[in-house]
Amino acid sequence: MKAISGIKPTGRITLGNYLGSLKHFKEYQNKYTPYIFVADIHALTLPIDPNEIRERTYDLLSYYLASGLDINKTVLFKQSDILEVGQLNSIIINFIYMGELSRMTQFKQKSALLNQEAIGVGLFTYPVLMAADLYLYDCDVCPVGEDQVQHVELAREIERRFNKRYQTNILKTPKAIVSKTGSRIKSLSDPTKKMSKSDDEHSKGVIYMDDDLNVVRKKIMSAVTDMDSKVFYDPINKPGISNLMEIYACLKNISIEQVDDLFKQCARYGDFKKEVADCLISEMQVLQERFKYYRNNKKYLDEIFEKNAGIARKSAQTILNKVEKVVGLK
Ligand code: AMP
Repeated sequence: MKAISGIKPTGRITLGNYLGSLKHFKEYQNKYTPYIFVADIHALTLPIDPNEIRERTYDLLSYYLASGLDINKTVLFKQSDILEVGQLNSIIINFIYMGELSRMTQFKQKSALLNQEAIGVGLFTYPVLMAADLYLYDCDVCPVGEDQVQHVELAREIERRFNKRYQTNILKTPKAIVSKTGSRIKSLSDPTKKMSKSDDEHSKGVIYMDDDLNVVRKKIMSAVTDMDSKVFYDPINKPGISNLMEIYACLKNISIEQVDDLFKQCARYGDFKKEVADCLISEMQVLQERFKYYRNNKKYLDEIFEKNAGIARKSAQTILNKVEKVVGLK
């Protein structure tokens, strides 16, 4: 059994990325062969400095390794090394309608922030390229944050149309797996909104995994909460406290019910926040040290990309070859 997932090398990695995806990847290593990639082509969907992509690509691979991914169990690769993804994208793009793409929540949110005359076609068709990523490695599951589930469903629709038209079962969409905790981490300054890389860099609402640990403590301690003082899970009426509980549950690998039990006697939000901050800081300290170790060894990182491009391409070529035959390109 295989699993697939990726993260874009844009901006600094947030606590949302970490708890929603990175932290869970290593759990998959024991049950699946994970194919985890740096989604560098996806990074081009919004204007970005070339050096930013280059540097963030190494950052991301270092985070993958720092979070415990083992190169003997996981195929860590760079999306753009797999040339087949572009070709498959060009083929399957004919199996989806513009109306369907324009209804994607992420597209609506991202394009709303742009000049309406300058919305890139790549931003619009992003879920198609993602579908190509999902098909090429014959994977069974894809661990993602909740924001990506709609895109996986779209891939399933493309799969259904394609396989029906050609009476085949070549395209296979992995099942989206959203972890029970951590899949929807909210901003600390506005807990009704997703914590996002694209927020203002200086926002107090976003924790970056490379933040100074004193800054992390300040951000947690000043997280927006309600006027009550009881710690219990109620995302509608207590979004700030519920978000901190979710962060804690995910860090400790326990359920929200267990966090509820642990803190129901807690009389002050300050005490609860301090617990969350301590727990987060101790995990981040280890991650940051491990990250530095890998990030300073570019040669090793290049070797990993080179070796794994070969492994991932082998699978990609097999699938693409079948697709090209069935549609008449071969
Ligand atoms: P991206 O940075 O858009 O490439 O996202 C990489 C992964 O992080 C995806 O699986 C997202 O679903 C996940 N992710 C991003 N932001 C959050 C968040 N605030 N909470 C949980 N998961 C997130």
